[in-house]
Amino acid sequence: MEELRVFCPATIANISCGFDVLGVALDSVGDEMVIRKTPKKGIFITKLEGQDLPMETERNVAGVAGLALLNESDYDGGFEIEIYKNIKAGSGIGSSAASSTGAVWAMNQLLGKPFTTSKLVEFAMEGERLASGVAHADNVAPALFGGFTLVRSYEPLDIIPINSPSELFATVIHPQIEIKTSDSRKILKTHITLKEGIKQWGNLGGLIAGLFTEDYDLIGRSLEDHIVEPIRSILIPGFNDVKKGALTSGALGCGISGSGPSIFAFSKGEATAKKVALSMKKVYEKIGIDHDVHISKINTEGVKEI
Ligand code: ADP
Repeated sequence: MEELRVFCPATIANISCGFDVLGVALDSVGDEMVIRKTPKKGIFITKLEGQDLPMETERNVAGVAGLALLNESDYDGGFEIEIYKNIKAGSGIGSSAASSTGAVWAMNQLLGKPFTTSKLVEFAMEGERLASGVAHADNVAPALFGGFTLVRSYEPLDIIPINSPSELFATVIHPQIEIKTSDSRKILKTHITLKEGIKQWGNLGGLIAGLFTEDYDLIGRSLEDHIVEPIRSILIPGFNDVKKGALTSGALGCGISGSGPSIFAFSKGEATAKKVALSMKKVYEKIGIDHDVHISKINTEGVKEI
């Protein structure tokens, strides 16, 4: 096999009480990439369509993640990469993670799978380091494993795949405003009280239990974040109305996707997810902010060949 075309899923990270540890892959939103073996050593981005992003290997997350893999491989050739972006950079649904993971997953396939999925997460995290300055795993892990994943620990890296309930659907709205990642990081508190901690880990435990037992009510009750959401949501116009509308339309829960500005909601069944989408849209139509809406079931495979 010399060439692969892959689908690279968008991902929701910072799922309410799972801030910085829980993420999930989406099924109907994502980029495409073509990865091709070349005898010339190195990584070469030969095409990039859909977004204005750097094509130099060291400035593109796909290039950096690919180099991390190549450095640990005994393959003495290289790879050409074509990137077809659908996910807008900075939207909060893992645009950089899609490119990093697509690159390393396809390269691993083309080399006969010398690396484990966990090792691919480590390579893809180098792309995240380029995008945000922090080598976080909460978008790249679900993109590679599929479904929900928990980053239990970074040292050592310990990724736990979590069950994805079959009727769970995500609705994501992306209001087209710019929030600098540095701003959304800067406003976070560095300390929390014991009382806040207890609420958060109670909810996270409940959410994980709800996902495994497919208990939609428990999932809904647990989708709460008393620590980050009250602060970060201030940067997203209309957030409270979007959340209120989503919950009134039947969503199980609603929160900020990644570091925003996208907002996600989870629903049981596609019909409810569609109703939720309409109520979310209404808010931004009223305020007059351009927006994209995605409705997706959970992608349990992660990056895949197409
Ligand atoms: P989000 O998770 O909010 O969608 P990202 O964390 O993906 O946003 O960050 C996007 C940043 O990564 C931008 O600064 C962008 O220039 C940079 N970047 C570099 N290469 C890529 C790529 N191939 N795809 C997307 N973003 C890239």
